[in-house]
Amino acid sequence: MSGFKEMNHNELVAQLQFFKDIGVESLAVGAVGEAQARERAASSGEAQARERAAGSNASPLGAHRAPLQDLESVRAEIGDCQRCKLAPKRTNIVFGSGNPSAELVFVGEAPGYDEDQQGLPFVGRAGQLLTKIIESINFKREDVYICNVLKCRPPENRNPEPDEVAACNPFLKKQLAAIRPKIVCCLGTFAAQTVIQTAAPISRLRGKFFDLDGMRVIATFHPAYLLRSPEKKREVWEDMKQIRAELFRLRS
Ligand code: URA
Repeated sequence: MSGFKEMNHNELVAQLQFFKDIGVESLAVGAVGEAQARERAASSGEAQARERAAGSNASPLGAHRAPLQDLESVRAEIGDCQRCKLAPKRTNIVFGSGNPSAELVFVGEAPGYDEDQQGLPFVGRAGQLLTKIIESINFKREDVYICNVLKCRPPENRNPEPDEVAACNPFLKKQLAAIRPKIVCCLGTFAAQTVIQTAAPISRLRGKFFDLDGMRVIATFHPAYLLRSPEKKREVWEDMKQIRAELFRLRS
């Protein structure tokens, strides 16, 4: 969670309500200090930027890799994209936002109305819930990176179509290759099926790790689904705890 002290009253109430919703019964506030400070320092973009400046060219899990495109050049390559039929109707391309050196990346499905308007991922109601989910495992939203399989909004938020996924997925792959996160968390069916390359349903995919190009990939329910089915929040909390534990394991 971002430090309780940094939250205003409404934010604090919302965060505590979220903990209640997901079944957290007690918070180890007294034990938070040092361990969290260490965790936060290790997870901060600054720490990773220092590692990179020191010349690390290792993949998240240690394998050596050739220099890759950085995020800015991936964005530049997308340009004023006209590669699929979504282009004429979009207001903005929603590339992604957050820490370009994030250890943890969240991948959603596609921008909705608010995201299309603002050019930023997960800024609507589902996005507010995603922020709370991120904070539940001691990250701030700006510590992680958030993006989508599709960079343009499908009309009326319909499901992505195969030709759209085919046109956009190479850029998601390049984003992940540029960021080199330790963990990718796929939000919902489309992200999970696209990233993990399977047709299995989210109910079977969620909650376990897959290995993909040196990253650990896990899927959980989409926050928009949680808004409709709040009883599923507990499963998302289980998945978040797994992410937190796996990050600790990978750092040690
Ligand atoms: N849903 C998504 O999958 N992505 C967004 O950016 C917003 C809502």
